[in-house]
Amino acid sequence: MTSSAKLFREATANVEAAAHSIAMDPKVRAILSGPMNELIVNFPVQRDSGDYEMLQGYRIQHNNILGPYKGGMRFHASVDLDEVRALATWMTFKCALVRLPFGGAKGGVAIDPHNFSDTELERVVRRFTHSLGENIGPEFDIPAPDMGTDARMMGWMMDTYLNSRGPGERQNARRVVTGKPVELGGSLGRAAATGRGAAYALRHLYGEFDRSLDGDTVAIQGFGNVGSHAALTLSELGMDVVAVADVGGAIHHETGLDIEKLVRFSQENGGVAGYPNAEPISTEEFFALDVDVLVPAALEAQITAHNVDSIRARWIVEAANGPITAEAAAVLDHGGVEVIPDILANSGGVIVSYYEWVQNKTSDQWSAVDVDRRLRDTVWDACDRVAAQRVSRACSRRQAAYIEAAELLQTVYSLRGIFP
Ligand code: NAD
Repeated sequence: MTSSAKLFREATANVEAAAHSIAMDPKVRAILSGPMNELIVNFPVQRDSGDYEMLQGYRIQHNNILGPYKGGMRFHASVDLDEVRALATWMTFKCALVRLPFGGAKGGVAIDPHNFSDTELERVVRRFTHSLGENIGPEFDIPAPDMGTDARMMGWMMDTYLNSRGPGERQNARRVVTGKPVELGGSLGRAAATGRGAAYALRHLYGEFDRSLDGDTVAIQGFGNVGSHAALTLSELGMDVVAVADVGGAIHHETGLDIEKLVRFSQENGGVAGYPNAEPISTEEFFALDVDVLVPAALEAQITAHNVDSIRARWIVEAANGPITAEAAAVLDHGGVEVIPDILANSGGVIVSYYEWVQNKTSDQWSAVDVDRRLRDTVWDACDRVAAQRVSRACSRRQAAYIEAAELLQTVYSLRGIFP
């Protein structure tokens, strides 16, 4: 079985377990066990050399009972159908958990964006968007950034979509994509939202144990959009970020790294490797560090049966999607490690994407302070409900989060009924 097939099987197993816990109606269970729509598009892209290359893109629409399909677009060499299926499933449960009027979707293209120039990437985004055609739309399916994509690409995606609309529709259709640059209708606070949301979820968890973040140590894997903003927020909240890892290597400084300096260094040098005033460490050493908190904010399946026994952190925040395999999660649960599951920990991104969509719909612009306060309150509300489920069901935080989402989905299906 491929690693992405395993990932999708694990995503489905989480859904099944929650369905079992709440004795979900078998019809609803069957619907939620797989995606509603699966789209594969093949499209030509011209390289700067003049040659054409055929690329394959995916959009998986898992469920839309709560509202339009919603989810990121990933550009990474590992993207395939099963990976995107798993990510789309998680989006349905994430949106339900944080009570957004959105369903779940995900998409992507199997390329390493570092191997494409800016002009080539623009052609990839525009041609992919064009190929998706009417399969995305501001009230139907709304993409956003994910690994390997960013605000600038969302701008190209929006522009391509708007050019296929009549002039009278264009202004209103800007919300077809979220995570856009602020000048194009993006929300203040969207770029930082996923990392900040993860930090707020950790603060809530510490609060449950009457513990302060101040002076506790944290190691963060991934220093892109999510990891860098999680690092900035956690150091703002008083934590010492003592280690950071990215695709190029890992670094460690016992008394804490200067995160603002590290962000600048990483932007200028394409990664954290080589940062002065820190010692390089291996990936194995990174995961085995004696820190209070570990924040995986890069890829799936980073904490596995292979390395879980080396982990010494007592608290883990799944800022990435699916960073802990099911086998490793069982070991961590057994060992009493508190894990904030991905559908809660990284929900900040889609929460502020929803705020962007509302601001576009109402031609409004909320202040950064307003966005951040709403984000924090929404994450904390979900944390409260997950904590309550956890106690009443005597289960893991992950199971509690899935149950909390599944109950809403079950209620909505039972109120609406299943057509015909
Ligand atoms: P990004 O492309 O901005 O950054 C990815 C980071 O991971 C980079 O620092 C890269 O060097 C690092 N990385 C890649 N491969 C690695 C490896 N093998 N070992 C160590 N580090 C590695 O991506 P992002 O948007 O920050 O997304 C990170 C994770 O967060 C993904 O799982 C994504 O699905 C999830 N997520 C992102 C958002 C969002 O708003 N961007 C929202 C929800 C969830």
